[in-house]
Amino acid sequence: MTTTITHWAGGTEFDGTSGLWADVTNPATGQVSGRVALASARDAEYVIGDAKLASTAWAETSLARRSQVVFAFRELLNARKEELARLITAEHGKVLSDALGEVSRGQEVVEFACGIPHLLKGGHSGNASTGVDVHSRRDPLGVVGIISPFNFPAMVPMWFFPIAIAAGNAVVLKPSEKDPSASLWIANLWKEAGLPDGVFNVLQGDKTAVDALLQSPDVAAISFVGSTPIAKYVYEEASRNGKRVQALGGAKNHMVVLPDADLDLAADAAVNAGYGSAGERCMAISVLVAVEPVADDLVARIAERTRTLRVGAGSGDADMGPLVTKAHRDRVAGFVDSGEAAGAKLVIDGRDVTASGDGFWLGPTLFDNVTPEMEIYREEIFGPVLSVVRVSSYDEAVALVNSNAYGNGTAIFTNDGGAARRFENDVQVGMIGVNVPIPVPVAYYSFGGWKQSLFGDTHAHGTEGVHFFTRAKVVTSRWINPAARPEGGLELGFPQNV
Ligand code: NAD
Repeated sequence: MTTTITHWAGGTEFDGTSGLWADVTNPATGQVSGRVALASARDAEYVIGDAKLASTAWAETSLARRSQVVFAFRELLNARKEELARLITAEHGKVLSDALGEVSRGQEVVEFACGIPHLLKGGHSGNASTGVDVHSRRDPLGVVGIISPFNFPAMVPMWFFPIAIAAGNAVVLKPSEKDPSASLWIANLWKEAGLPDGVFNVLQGDKTAVDALLQSPDVAAISFVGSTPIAKYVYEEASRNGKRVQALGGAKNHMVVLPDADLDLAADAAVNAGYGSAGERCMAISVLVAVEPVADDLVARIAERTRTLRVGAGSGDADMGPLVTKAHRDRVAGFVDSGEAAGAKLVIDGRDVTASGDGFWLGPTLFDNVTPEMEIYREEIFGPVLSVVRVSSYDEAVALVNSNAYGNGTAIFTNDGGAARRFENDVQVGMIGVNVPIPVPVAYYSFGGWKQSLFGDTHAHGTEGVHFFTRAKVVTSRWINPAARPEGGLELGFPQNV
């Protein structure tokens, strides 16, 4: 039995008119489990038009009502999140506990957005000039587009749409075509929560759908998350078309381990953050920077733990699931070949690992003695491959982190508070963990990297998210006091505050 995954517009499923469909596979079996619609430019126009129609009334809906709908969505999500997690596991492959974790982290942003009346409070200055008051307000943008990657089909869209909707915008979500079912499940949940039809829409598809969003004059802003080349393209194209845009790109996250660190804690963290979700996380640790003399001891502890990991279907009791597609599995295996050929020491080889069925299996892989010239160091692998680079000092470790093209996340493991504080100051990276391997900020802070990991200047969620999805007005007003007449009079000079 295969499922059909359509677009969603006007509060209902919509097949589109392109006649084009793409296969969706279950990565644990290798079998086709569904087909997803691929939008034409005309389909996109229809969905965006529908969002535009709904956006005016929604923007005029009271803050109280808007936050009640977001609250209702939160309650439904909390009660039924396992359903969503199961859909994610079936199309992405990650283990169920990991899928549930992703939904819960997304839910935190929904909870943050429930406080929208407070978040949209403006400032007021009475009598800023004699008899003149000034206040500020933030208004919604209209229709906003969200383009998301395969690796977090629920959490990444949830970084954006709860705030966008609560702030009074209509949303068009373009999910990854690799695991699109979560988007339709979410659309149905919004309907159940009482969101008016047309405020949340889903446009399925590939580059054609993305380009339609980037080019439509009716889309005011784009939030994109994906690989760096596409993020850069989206940033440039959307900016050229006059939109505000935040485009989050790829990553190569380094975890620095100083000689005074708790090595068991560091080894646990490296394994969890290196191999969790089969390394398909933008905040995965892919480079472990061991400051000597810890490397031998640390690599031994990591290897011991890695050998205990069970690879298998995410719906079972495995620690790590398959990779998302066969093409991606083969690409990651190609990086393992490349590391071996370049002379890195292959401590654990995941290439021979298989589990049940024709799934896209690749076991956890550990390289030691990796050097910065090697391809496995330079490229974002986005798979369960952990590379250990040995350095001789803290300064060398920081120089390595800062010379990398990406700046998404990093971590330091140490018991020296002074070194940790110095690291926080020295590294050119957006999100830093101290004895925390995956420092994804809580919803009321903002998520985003530096350098090739983010194009645009606004990070996701938190108050930066509220700013992104609204624009400011400042109102300067004077109300005539009849008792104090005469006011006004002719004066052509620039107004002064008195
Ligand atoms: P991707 O760039 O291939 O796809 C992302 C989105 O762009 C998808 O919706 C896809 O349909 C669309 N797309 C793909 N090719 C396109 C093209 N040529 N033109 C227009 N649109 C196109 O990324 P992915 O493989 O789905 O996701 C993995 C990547 O996302 C990794 O690089 C990972 O680091 C990154 N990521 C970054 C963050 C972050 O917060 N910085 C978070 C999650 C994932």
